[in-house]
Amino acid sequence: MKIRTKIAIQFSIIVSIILLCFSLSIYFFTESSLIERFYVRIFNHASTTARLLSDVDEIDNKLLALIDKSSTSKLPEEAIQVYTLDDSLVFSNLKPVVYPKSLLDEIKVKKEIRRENGKKELVGLLFKGKLHDYVVVATASDEAGKEELRSLKSRLVIGFFIVVAITIISSMVFAKQALKPINSVIKQIDDISANDLSKRIDEGNKTDEIAQLSMKFNEMLERLQKSFEQQRDFVTHASHELRTPLASLKSEIELGLDDEKLSESHRETLQNIHFDVQRLIELSNNILQLARPFNSNILIFNELRVDEVMFQLQSDLQKKYQECRINVDFEKIANNDELLTIMGNELLIRQVFINLISNSLKYSEIKQVWILIDFDRKNVNIKIKDKGIGIHANDLEKIFEPFYRSQNAIGREGFGIGLAICKKIIDAHGGKIIVSSEFGKGSVFTVSIPHLSI
Ligand code: ADP
Repeated sequence: MKIRTKIAIQFSIIVSIILLCFSLSIYFFTESSLIERFYVRIFNHASTTARLLSDVDEIDNKLLALIDKSSTSKLPEEAIQVYTLDDSLVFSNLKPVVYPKSLLDEIKVKKEIRRENGKKELVGLLFKGKLHDYVVVATASDEAGKEELRSLKSRLVIGFFIVVAITIISSMVFAKQALKPINSVIKQIDDISANDLSKRIDEGNKTDEIAQLSMKFNEMLERLQKSFEQQRDFVTHASHELRTPLASLKSEIELGLDDEKLSESHRETLQNIHFDVQRLIELSNNILQLARPFNSNILIFNELRVDEVMFQLQSDLQKKYQECRINVDFEKIANNDELLTIMGNELLIRQVFINLISNSLKYSEIKQVWILIDFDRKNVNIKIKDKGIGIHANDLEKIFEPFYRSQNAIGREGFGIGLAICKKIIDAHGGKIIVSSEFGKGSVFTVSIPHLSI
């Protein structure tokens, strides 16, 4: 999961939990204060009724019932029943309800009780008047309070979902915004290749965390570049140093071979040494080429017609490998020259295809190779196809590594460097080289290089 999504989810969960707690506390706080207020009102009504009955001589049951009827502050379904201490009912504003004796006893003991009685609220109180003491049981229904709670609940639920939806959207936008600098660092890192470690990442304001990460990365690049350069310098110097003595060794052997008095066995020995020295020269040249940096700042690039280069190569190599057949064919006909034109260094491009074609001939018995020219929206694709010994699936990834030779190469000449050089050259041209092969049936190497018609 991307960090962006993770941050958005975590942030939304935290906000939702806080919001849920907040909504619940508002709901329960409002509920308890509404209930409390309602009980206080029933209690006041109950004690006023008892006081009128007990302390005002002029008021009897009937008058009290009349007062109660005309009262404007009555609560919904309000029912008040007044009992003497020996449980005989002295007043009831509505049709009397029979309460259990235990309830009246409990009121006498506790002096005041409150509880839910079905859908109504019930208050019981022991009233001590100037003339009489009474037990009062009053009930009423808090419809308005319940309605208020219901509407509060639906407002809180709708509000909760709206705020959560807004939080999810805004946290995704926020996370994307916050991680934008990281995406830009990733893009810049993508542009840095092993062939060109000179690029650096933008260090921005040099203070925030991303800038510090970029600075650390740049420091690491600096160290890597230094050690790469040291390694490259060492290899370059070593192969340079080797080339001079090898070249003089080669010419001395050639001089020796010119001597007519040389015995047959000595001639054969010298010829073997000459062959080995020639191989060593080739090897040091290849190593030098592998170590040398190849990038567009150093190389001279020109417009190249790929099909022309291929036909030229066909005729050059056909002369060298007379017993072999090199075929060139178009897979598609281009109606625009630019589709077959690339920006490239002709010498290096030729070297890539000489390597690939020579390999195809070296690793096949029927000594035939097909050069197939194709293109797509972005690239010219040149396929070098053979019906040779093929490459084992496990080796396909590794054959582009320097000095890797697969099992099929045993008994055939080579150092395992050719494909590594090809890859390096094609990388420097912004292209790609891939291989597909079936063991025992043949291989296809496809080189794709951007054409000018993009
Ligand atoms: P070399 O041919 O000198 O060994 P390369 O770098 O050119 O080195 O090739 C690396 C390895 O890839 C070879 O050793 C061989 O095993 C394999 N390979 C390359 N081209 C082919 C091909 N056309 N058919 C079969 N195997 C190949």
